[in-house]
Amino acid sequence: MNIHIMTLFPEMVMGGLSTSITGRAMEKGILSIEAVNIRDYAFNKHQSVDDYPYGGGAGMLMQAEPVYQCYQAIMEKQSTQKKVRVLYMSPQGQTFSQAMAEELAKEEELIFLCGHYEGIDERVLEEIVTDYVSIGDYVLTGGELPAMVMVDAISRMVPGVLHNNVSAEFESFQDSLLEYPQYSRPEIWHEKQVPPILLSGHHANIEKWRREQSVIRTAKNRPDLLEKAELTEDEKRLAKSVRL
Ligand code: SAM
Repeated sequence: MNIHIMTLFPEMVMGGLSTSITGRAMEKGILSIEAVNIRDYAFNKHQSVDDYPYGGGAGMLMQAEPVYQCYQAIMEKQSTQKKVRVLYMSPQGQTFSQAMAEELAKEEELIFLCGHYEGIDERVLEEIVTDYVSIGDYVLTGGELPAMVMVDAISRMVPGVLHNNVSAEFESFQDSLLEYPQYSRPEIWHEKQVPPILLSGHHANIEKWRREQSVIRTAKNRPDLLEKAELTEDEKRLAKSVRL
């Protein structure tokens, strides 16, 4: 998968994404991630890319032309004529989710656009953006952290990025349930014993226990998710007993 991130702070984005799992996937050539500096497409000698908003108001706005030129430069390098999705990081967008990460992981190419200051001139957004995406109902100083969050979540869904694809198989939000609790060595830590069933070697019973724990956990922490989960009658009773 090829990811292009349009930003004023490429070193911030690449510093984070070159580390750990996404960094290794880049080294292996499974992912290609480039941060493209919008400032390189400034059209004045001071390389400024922002200006005052018409009509007044606090802060500065990123101008349309450098963003447009940066986008054009990325598009000119494309070998395919296929329309590439351009995701604008915005608190006004649709809230990012695991389902969205899975859907976006199927794309061959993605462009992320990070705003800064008070945002970006609306006209260029109208022209190039296909999706407006938020990472939550709060306002950050820029779109770099949201882009990193999204690229990280999308990357782990790309085949070959995780060491063991099984580890992406059951995770929180899959089937609208949160993941069950997990334990590693030693068997006893701070006088807390690992649940004996996990040491039994009985796979069917372990699966049953994990599923119940997922239902209990979701009922306790995120009861809103259960509305979409497909539960058996027994599981519905279990969830209800937790919430009482
Ligand atoms: N004035 C804008 C508004 O009220 O909608 C907020 C601009 S914000 C200070 C600057 C940039 O940060 C935005 O253009 C966007 O790219 C990014 N940003 C801020 N909060 C975000 C969020 N929750 N999700 C995604 N991007 C966000």
